[in-house]
Amino acid sequence: MIQSIEKSWVTPREHTPDAGLYGGKGASLMTMAAMGIPVPMGFILPIGYEKPLFACHGDDLKAHSTFPSSSEHPSPFPLDIETALSTLEQKLGSYLGDPDRPLFLSVRSGGAISMPGMMDTFLNIGLVPKTCPALAERLGLSLAQTESLYIQQHKDWENSWSTLPDLSNPRLLIQDPKIHLWQAIQAVWHSWNSPRALAYRQHHNLQNDGGSAVIIQAMVFGNASGRSGTGVLFTRRPDTGENTLFGEFLPHAQGEDLVSGAVTPQPLSDLSDYAPKIFEELCHYARTLEHAQGDMQDIEFTFENDTLWILQTRSGKRTANATFRIAYDRVMADESTREQSLTSIDPMTIDGLLHPQLTQPNGLLSIARGLATSPGAAIGRLTFDPEAVTPDSILLLRETSAEDVPAMLMAKGVVTLRGGMTSHAAVIMRSIGKPCISGLENAAITPNGLEINGHVFPIGTTVTMDGTAGILFDGPGTIETPSFSFQTTEVLSWADEVRSLTVYANADTPEDILRAMTWGADGIGLCRTEHMMFQTQRLRLMQQFILAPTADWRNHALLELETLHQHDLLALLRAANSKRLIVRLLDPPLHEFLPTSQEEKSLLARHWDQSLQDIERCIEKRSETNPMMGQRGCRLGLAFPELYAMQIRALFGAMDQAVADGLSPDCGVMIPLVAHVKELETLRTLFYSLNPGLRRVNFGVMIETPRAALIADALAQWVDFISFGTNDLTQMTWGLSRDDSNPITQTYHALGIADPFYAVDTMGVGQLMEWACTRAKTVNPNIAISVCGEHAANPRNIGFFHRIGIGSVSCSPWALPRVRLAAAKAVLSHDGSSPQGADCVVATGVKEESRL
Ligand code: PEP
Ligand code: MG
Repeated sequence: MIQSIEKSWVTPREHTPDAGLYGGKGASLMTMAAMGIPVPMGFILPIGYEKPLFACHGDDLKAHSTFPSSSEHPSPFPLDIETALSTLEQKLGSYLGDPDRPLFLSVRSGGAISMPGMMDTFLNIGLVPKTCPALAERLGLSLAQTESLYIQQHKDWENSWSTLPDLSNPRLLIQDPKIHLWQAIQAVWHSWNSPRALAYRQHHNLQNDGGSAVIIQAMVFGNASGRSGTGVLFTRRPDTGENTLFGEFLPHAQGEDLVSGAVTPQPLSDLSDYAPKIFEELCHYARTLEHAQGDMQDIEFTFENDTLWILQTRSGKRTANATFRIAYDRVMADESTREQSLTSIDPMTIDGLLHPQLTQPNGLLSIARGLATSPGAAIGRLTFDPEAVTPDSILLLRETSAEDVPAMLMAKGVVTLRGGMTSHAAVIMRSIGKPCISGLENAAITPNGLEINGHVFPIGTTVTMDGTAGILFDGPGTIETPSFSFQTTEVLSWADEVRSLTVYANADTPEDILRAMTWGADGIGLCRTEHMMFQTQRLRLMQQFILAPTADWRNHALLELETLHQHDLLALLRAANSKRLIVRLLDPPLHEFLPTSQEEKSLLARHWDQSLQDIERCIEKRSETNPMMGQRGCRLGLAFPELYAMQIRALFGAMDQAVADGLSPDCGVMIPLVAHVKELETLRTLFYSLNPGLRRVNFGVMIETPRAALIADALAQWVDFISFGTNDLTQMTWGLSRDDSNPITQTYHALGIADPFYAVDTMGVGQLMEWACTRAKTVNPNIAISVCGEHAANPRNIGFFHRIGIGSVSCSPWALPRVRLAAAKAVLSHDGSSPQGADCVVATGVKEESRL
């Protein structure tokens, strides 16, 4: 139903208007009108209003160029728009196209989520030759000036309406402002699908369905003849969060003049001299609105002949530091509770304080875009060869593999041509907090360098990568490293008091564990032990174990590995300082340990005093057509029980040593990629045979295959905990390779399907998880349940995990602050908000004390 914007007509004050229906802007106008704040009168066509019109006319409004408003007077609009317009005219005492008392209208878009500047806006509807004299008088212009404004305006309208199906219509030439209004309304609807709006939604991962409300309001003129002007203010400083009004205004101007930047505005403080009464009212409304909305506001205003109008209010964009300062200050000033402040914070904001950020992309030439898979910014020289990486390099490869890890650790950032959110490069770079861009579009690595759309960027080119936005720039940008303020630390501690989810980190080096502890990890929920095997000496021994021709050689390799592994695990236990450490036994397909380059293979041949052919034959014997579904995970442990036994013994040895050092190690061991209960039973027997009840170590299983989820009850009876490996679970459930998903997820985006490796797929993977949680608890009520896939790092998934009864999540150290905030929000919102909304599975799980 069409909604009016006028005090006596709006929804009662205690009832918040629905932004999903009236758009953010429309809802805020309704709220302000209800509060008695002066907003120009008007009406709103809600989101979806046009759907039945399009449906009736085969997606073509052209077929429906007039609507009967009464039998005598056909109208360009449907009847209810006609009625809303004439009601507005009567209330205001001015009429569209009336030469004596003309009404001028603005027509604006209003999406449920703001897309600044992406959709069309039309001003001065009602300006036709016969209304020019009245407008000239109102604006203090000559008739000739107003007529030329009309001519210009009319040209602009025709240009932007020319893409509408109806616009070859000669009626446009008729100077009927009602037809103009109808064209403007349609143009706003069409602009929802304009290329820039589509690109904006794709970039911000927003859904394409929905559409825009259309907000039609009486014009107020900041460029009117008397004391008039326009401006924007923030109720607190958006850069620092300081509690002082901050803004700008322009006398004798309209909002567009301010936005275009054509004229330099004056600081808001000058308004107190120019229009003291307006300034005083503005201060009052600013405070009132911040109080009512419970957040810092960004307010647009206009004053015409000493009358103030508020055109829009919304939560103001602010820097990450300002976000936490405002949240903290509002609580200290009793303007909000801790819970309200926590609820108002977007958990992603805190990432802006963890990584170097690009401060000034203006002036930098963007080379290409890709997926923003690890945030932060870096400047460095393009390097295409892992062997040639220096600490100054941006490493650019088709994709990365385990062999590249040393180079990745050294480089400032990594860019890959392939891969998605859970690709090797993305996982590694997120875990070490350096930027990564994956799936670089339209790019190829050629012998001459990086080739993009015919341009070649040779080795050594200085580039800036913005991993937060997924953009690669030519040349050096300006980068700033922010830091945590006292207020940020305080707000995080409030989140810890509220949250019920335990938050662990995924880490496999002492440095990562120490960082994780600094950022509030409750322990380590996933230590991927294979990452500990890629240091040269360990990798050689792994290769020896896998490829050696004799049992003797293999056993020898294992013995040496055990000593080194024990040493490494002890270092982890010391860093964890008696907090929980969950060690996952080796998981990757064997090929990840094997050399790929000729150089590496030759090196190995020389090292073992074998021929290159012999080495190649051994490697060939181990090769698999589809390694991600081959000899990996627990199958590795079943094929080579001595490998897992080596790891278990090394852990026990490290624990004993840690106890001797005065620590109280709290460890768990988990088995990856299980599909059958016999696999788990076999490896459990191995585990307990090496630890006949002496040490307290939890034994767990990862749920990473759909079958494991379905038989979670059978698995649960054998373990202390389960941990969902949602990367593999998503890969296996969707039959979609996590390393090759990028082009497919792009196609999916166009179809409105969210990237399942980023937003947990609540309809599919989520159902499996919920099923597994419920079933596991029926046989083992004390079982601890965790999620350690990359999904745990996405705040949008946390509510869902919380709701289905997950007790802990484990994410990269760099994601900890945001996940701690999201876990608090999950408790406060009680909504289990899911990234796919209506698809969300309704939770039945009971909250549990996490044992993990
Ligand atoms: C997973 O699959 O979600 C997981 C944590 O294991 P990995 O990413 O190491 O395969
Ligand atoms: Mg996995």
